[in-house]
Amino acid sequence: MINNILPDKNGFFGNYGGQFIEEDLKNELNKIEKSFLEIIQDESFLQELDYLMKNFVGRPSPIYFAKNLSEKYGNKIYFKREDLNHTGAHKINHCLGQALLAKKMGKTKVIGETGAGQHGLALATASALLGLECDIYMGEVDIEKAKTNVDKMRLLGANIKPVSFGTKSLKEAVDAALGAYKKEFKNAIYAIGSIVGPHPFPMMVEFFQSRIGIEANSQMKEQYGSLPDYVVACVGGGSNAIGIFNGFLNEQNVQLVGVEPLGKGEKIGQNAASIAFGKDGIIHGFKCKVLQNEKGEIQDAYSVACGLDYPGIGPKHCYLNENKLAKYEIIGDLEAIDAFYELSKTEGIIPALESSHAIAYALKLSKTIKDKKILVNLSGRGDKDINFIMENYPKK
Ligand SMILES: *Cc1c(COP(=O)(O)O)cnc(C)c1O
Repeated sequence: MINNILPDKNGFFGNYGGQFIEEDLKNELNKIEKSFLEIIQDESFLQELDYLMKNFVGRPSPIYFAKNLSEKYGNKIYFKREDLNHTGAHKINHCLGQALLAKKMGKTKVIGETGAGQHGLALATASALLGLECDIYMGEVDIEKAKTNVDKMRLLGANIKPVSFGTKSLKEAVDAALGAYKKEFKNAIYAIGSIVGPHPFPMMVEFFQSRIGIEANSQMKEQYGSLPDYVVACVGGGSNAIGIFNGFLNEQNVQLVGVEPLGKGEKIGQNAASIAFGKDGIIHGFKCKVLQNEKGEIQDAYSVACGLDYPGIGPKHCYLNENKLAKYEIIGDLEAIDAFYELSKTEGIIPALESSHAIAYALKLSKTIKDKKILVNLSGRGDKDINFIMENYPKK
């Protein structure tokens, strides 16, 4: 790995992470960890991954200096353009990595879950490319909401598995996918959608996403003469943020900022800001800051950006927060929507609503500083959000 912060042998980053799962699954995940650690030393695997990242995904993604926005806000604002990747976001980075690992391990199927359909779409894409069967668990409510992504996943050959219990959305889809995986792990691998879940998933996803930060560090130096003063990324589970942070964790003078969704407010149930409002707890096989009520029951998360509404957060972010290696801030729905409009109109880039949280924070920060360099991770494009915004938040 490229930074020095690795999990211990039990998969913990300080107090967070681990493997809170049954014994037989633990054995299987330990096998996956072993294969992963071998494979990332294997030249042929790395070459194949590099080839696909370059020619299938379109990496390295450029860093764009947002001249109009910079002039308007009095600082130099840059965007790492993950929105230009094939399938429109950073998720393809870890899906391709995990699918390639599955293939090398001799598995024939990948199992995943999806909320708004972005992770499912990226996983279905990687599976089609590599000839793997792909089961995507998805809540019935989400299937209705994300119809276009469901159609795309079916076109790509994935099996959509509707989940009809509980709130019929992401949290239950994860439960259902994990349940299926427990029965099918001989032939299948679970491909998680962020740096969450039991060890080694957070570490593996971080490895595949860290290419964002490695690219960004040298791009800033080579193209723009120096490193940024700030690196800003939105945080759902935390994969795009950890990806870009990786390129700068060893740099003394770069302030890393993760932006959590404040949603409609500070009450549990109104937001998805796990660092800000969560307490230590266990969700989906790992320990992290998680949104819960007084009784310790996990509560549903909310954000206008579906890709951010997870009640937990990657263990590495909990660790970075506790050790003050990164700062975590909050941005609400309406601020993010303003930023969505602002970037579209000012720079000709329609950002994903998730990424709009990071942009909103960068613009807010800009009002308090001057002549600094702010690098924002533009985790995805906004095509998927346009209909929703026009129907629910049309510009007055
Ligand atoms: C899924 C998604 C996110 C949130 O996931 P992280 O693991 O926190 O990165 C952010 N942006 C976009 C565009 C997404 O699709």
